Amino acid sequence: MEHQNFETKAIRTQASKSEFREHSSPIYMTSSFTFEDAEQARALFADEIQGNIYTRFSNPNNNEFIEKLCLLEETEDGIATASGMAAMFSSMAGLLSAGDHVLASRSVFGSTHQLFTKVFPKWGISHTYADIHNQDEWEEKIQPNTKMIFAETPSNPGLDIIDLEWLGKLSKKHGLILNIDNCFATPYLQQPAKWGADIVTHSATKFIDGQGRAIGGAILGRKDLIKEIRFFARHSGPALSPFNGWVLSKSLETLHVRMDRHCDNALKLAEYLEGHDELELVKYPFLKSHPKHLLAKKQMKHGGGLVTFVVKGGIERGRDFLNSLEMLSLTANLGDSRTTVTHPASTTHSKLTDEERLEVGILPGLVRVSVGLENVEDIIRDVENALIKTSIKEDVSV
Ligand SMILES: *Cc1c(COP(=O)(O)O)cnc(C)c1O
Repeated sequence: MEHQNFETKAIRTQASKSEFREHSSPIYMTSSFTFEDAEQARALFADEIQGNIYTRFSNPNNNEFIEKLCLLEETEDGIATASGMAAMFSSMAGLLSAGDHVLASRSVFGSTHQLFTKVFPKWGISHTYADIHNQDEWEEKIQPNTKMIFAETPSNPGLDIIDLEWLGKLSKKHGLILNIDNCFATPYLQQPAKWGADIVTHSATKFIDGQGRAIGGAILGRKDLIKEIRFFARHSGPALSPFNGWVLSKSLETLHVRMDRHCDNALKLAEYLEGHDELELVKYPFLKSHPKHLLAKKQMKHGGGLVTFVVKGGIERGRDFLNSLEMLSLTANLGDSRTTVTHPASTTHSKLTDEERLEVGILPGLVRVSVGLENVEDIIRDVENALIKTSIKEDVSV
């Protein structure tokens, strides 16, 4: 086939059929593969021919998942990993050496922050955080030993947007590797490689799986870089289970339909919440009130599945609001078919001081909603009822 559109690639990319001519890919739960003869085994190990040897290296289910993701992200090559963190870790550990430095955006996923601050320093890999809102700061913070720029957009949980085209140009200018965690957007909404990302990393656990059931990840990007990371991964072992590879490849078939609905529901919830008198702030990339609304429209197809808002009444009210929800799930996960709600100040970011939280944009009353696929009227009603039940204005009136 000459040209296929996104949806078609997500559905029609399949592992080659077995002798049973199955219509859908089977699960290849096998740890190893047999060689036709000693010569073929030799050639496979010498990298003279391509083929599966052992599932820690490659497997038909994981290959299908990765081939599809490469087509969707428009990258040359990729590796499937057991989790999003295995992808973040391997994409950096495979390319960086002692003495190297990473320039990263200040608001990164919690475990990625732990890698930068607690794990990589053990091996002499340092980092500096730069502020999303201050572009000049980024160039000033590049050091002679800087090798990689790492960022997430939209950011978690602030939903700030970083200009990918600008970041792509900055990395080129200084000869750096640009690594973008594209978990929040998925390739359906945004393809960082088009703007100059050399590596695109994913937690497939979120919107790619989309039903809160499988853990997985992926590293995609330039062939030469993936080759280096593949060597690291092959021998350090963050391999994805073929069962999860099968689940995730199947999930990609419906990514576009699910993301359209996630984004549609999220926009409707954000529009409903905007200007609500129980809230101080509502943030959603495709609301006109978002400071980077035009940039979001430039680099994203829709605004994404997450909405954040700040309830009046601080940390107490935030907690009470969560306790008053009847349907929405209280969980730290996101990208699920079920709407999930998190109060970062009392959970994921509770160990930070108030100042540290403010630095990454986490106000005491900030609530993060990952909008699911339920009927949006039911989602809005649950939020509305919880806001009424915990209204701080009631205290005044009685
Ligand atoms: C969840 C998440 C990760 C980590 O992924 P796991 O699959 O949980 O290991 C990394 N980055 C972002 C932005 C995430 O949301």
